[in-house]
Amino acid sequence: MTQTAEAKSERGGDGPELLTSHDPRTGEVVGRHPVHSADDVAAAVRRARDASTHWAALDFDGRRARLDRWRKLLSRRADELCALISAETGKSADDARLEVAMVLDHLHWAAKHARKTLGRRRVATGPVMHNHAATLEYRPFGVVGVIGPWNYPAFTPMGSLSYALAAGNAVVFKPSEHTPGVGRFLADTFAEAVPEQHVLQVVTGYGPTGAALCGAGVDKLAFTGSTATGRRVMAECARTLTPVLVECGGKDALIVAEDADLEAAARGAVWGGLFNAGQSCAGVERVYVAEAVADAFVELVTRKAATLRPGGSPDADFGPITMPKQVDVIAAHVADALDRGATAAVGGRESIRPPYVEPVVLLDVPEDAAAVTEETFGPTLVVNRVADADEAVRRANALRYGLGAAVYSKARGEELAARLRCGVVSINSVLAFASVPALPFGGVGDSGFGRIHGEDGLREFTYAHAVSRQRFAGALDPMTYERGNRTVRRVLRLVRVLRGR
Ligand code: NAD
Repeated sequence: MTQTAEAKSERGGDGPELLTSHDPRTGEVVGRHPVHSADDVAAAVRRARDASTHWAALDFDGRRARLDRWRKLLSRRADELCALISAETGKSADDARLEVAMVLDHLHWAAKHARKTLGRRRVATGPVMHNHAATLEYRPFGVVGVIGPWNYPAFTPMGSLSYALAAGNAVVFKPSEHTPGVGRFLADTFAEAVPEQHVLQVVTGYGPTGAALCGAGVDKLAFTGSTATGRRVMAECARTLTPVLVECGGKDALIVAEDADLEAAARGAVWGGLFNAGQSCAGVERVYVAEAVADAFVELVTRKAATLRPGGSPDADFGPITMPKQVDVIAAHVADALDRGATAAVGGRESIRPPYVEPVVLLDVPEDAAAVTEETFGPTLVVNRVADADEAVRRANALRYGLGAAVYSKARGEELAARLRCGVVSINSVLAFASVPALPFGGVGDSGFGRIHGEDGLREFTYAHAVSRQRFAGALDPMTYERGNRTVRRVLRLVRVLRGR
């Protein structure tokens, strides 16, 4: 079978340039979508600007009612959405189902918690300013641009869309050129549930369409994708001082301590490394296992991984590599590791059979090999032995990436997790943090900054609006030239008494 899954452009007669998405399993055409120009993007942002006034004025209850309608519609059409996700990415039916389940849960959480997190509340003014009252609220920016990747074409952008919309913003969304149909589906179902105004629009196209969105006058840009593109997005947004949220790649480590439940750790490592064909920003790519339990752990991982097979049927363990170019990266990482002395406990060079890659488990890979330092984004696991869990923490923290991690330990889970330099950690499970809507998700270093999900994820799409109100004239008012000449001295004396000891 020839693989023709790359998104391609075509132009029919004098019509607009079109982008075609393909099923990576078969090469079949899934859909055709316009390649939107900078003018098209600017027009969408203008429409969003008008809609943002209406959307903000609805207040929390009005928005919640509408977002709930959208969620219920998505739930009713979940099978259709799952099928479309699988068609555009090739992922297995269960991988698509899991994605849609998380979409629904996060949308519910964001709509439900927006008022409590963002709504106006009084804050204490303290003894020095006791004659004032103070209130704080978090206001929507207005129009938010969202640029998404292909590997979780619904879940990942919805981490921005749900929270930005619940916070009161209108959104213009540019999905990946590989998954424009999923983006279109999200916007169309929103328009069906919330027909009043252009509150959520989608623009389709390649990098230049995304770049146009960065420069189109949006009030905030939420980007999820590779670290290299994240840098370009930041540079483009810097020209207009547009604030950015940047969710980029990762090279997540899983730590197996001496006291770990090895069966659970092996289960977590294999699923965390291989589900979605390893194409997960927070998937497990590196495993550090304490020497004392390494042999037993490797045996379990080997047994589990060796039985799994990729394929094009819905019930395959995992699907193909969505982007043909990535197969070369995976092959290069595996070959380089083996050339440099690593051994393969499962698979090897022969596991690369485009568009599929069979499970590969590499042992004892040099720490400076690409398979350890760069995103492989394939169904591969590096398992390296370390003296103990403390060395595992040092190695996990050694990269510039810092997205997620997992720790398996019966007694030291919390302590080891606290020492990891990354945004999200799960103890005795993998990726559980992504399914807890109240937990913020995001990274540090080359994995980006800013947060989606949880209260932080709602606040990310707002600015703080703080108001103080004088309730009565105070005995000391230093902020006027009518103050007596001893007033400021008295204020300082008071603060030194209260705060200086
Ligand atoms: P990518 O960087 O190639 O593309 C992401 C998006 O950016 C696409 O929509 C693309 O069209 C757009 N784009 C490309 N050039 C642009 C430009 N100059 N200006 C504006 N937009 C531009 O990433 P990808 O291959 O689609 O996604 C895979 C990457 O995303 C991996 O590195 C993965 O780790 C990361 N990812 C991160 C998270 C997270 O939450 N941290 C989640 C999912 C994926």
